[in-house]
Amino acid sequence: MKVLLCEMSWAEAKEYFAENDVAILPVGSTEQHGPANPLGTDHLIAGTLAEETAKRTGVLCLPVVPFGVSLHHRQFWGTIFISPKAFKEYVKETCLALHFYGVCKIVIVNGHGGNLPALAELARELRGQGVFVSVFQWWPASAKLLPGLFSPEERRHAGAEETSVNLALHSKLVSIAKAVDEEPRRHVLQVEGMTLPLDSVDETGSGVFGQQSTASAKKGKRVLEAVISELVKHVELLKKAEIKDLMPKPKV
Ligand SMILES: [Zn+2]
Repeated sequence: MKVLLCEMSWAEAKEYFAENDVAILPVGSTEQHGPANPLGTDHLIAGTLAEETAKRTGVLCLPVVPFGVSLHHRQFWGTIFISPKAFKEYVKETCLALHFYGVCKIVIVNGHGGNLPALAELARELRGQGVFVSVFQWWPASAKLLPGLFSPEERRHAGAEETSVNLALHSKLVSIAKAVDEEPRRHVLQVEGMTLPLDSVDETGSGVFGQQSTASAKKGKRVLEAVISELVKHVELLKKAEIKDLMPKPKV
């Protein structure tokens, strides 16, 4: 059975939508991940997690949204940056198109942390319109499921964990000889509890935050297996859930 929307004909899509009310939408970014990793890191990982989960659960998977909220990486060449507002509306309308065909439960597999505030907002808005949207991010899942596999310095942007997942998925796209370990610079105005409107380039010259050179495909495979299993669990539960039970509660 096909699970990728882009491979189905409209007649096959009609059959799916007649029987099913769940779909998976991967979203990511095209942004710098240091000199060693491809710009597509976040959307390539999200797309693969989503497709693999779709195959294991029989749930429809959409093509990945490749651009996200990446303004803070723009000084590094090739980063494509979309405003939070435009990104939120684009993803929301994608979800509403699915709803037009009867989908009311959507799992967004997000590969880029900068997208999360926009996704959380749209999920809350859509819940009020009859669509339940859950958002999965693989790296907080991995930190909980495999706490000892990487140090905090290896778990940052473009660090060894993300690079390991790239090595496991598409090693040809990683130039591991160009791996960088860089301790981010602390801004002169930084004190505890302060949020500053910084770009990546204010803190790192290479684009890497923390330790990258210790990446390995073997560790990447462990991360992938752990987070896909976790995501599969959620999708299986969501398939069984009644949409009426997922809608906002009435006033107390
Ligand atoms: Zn990333």
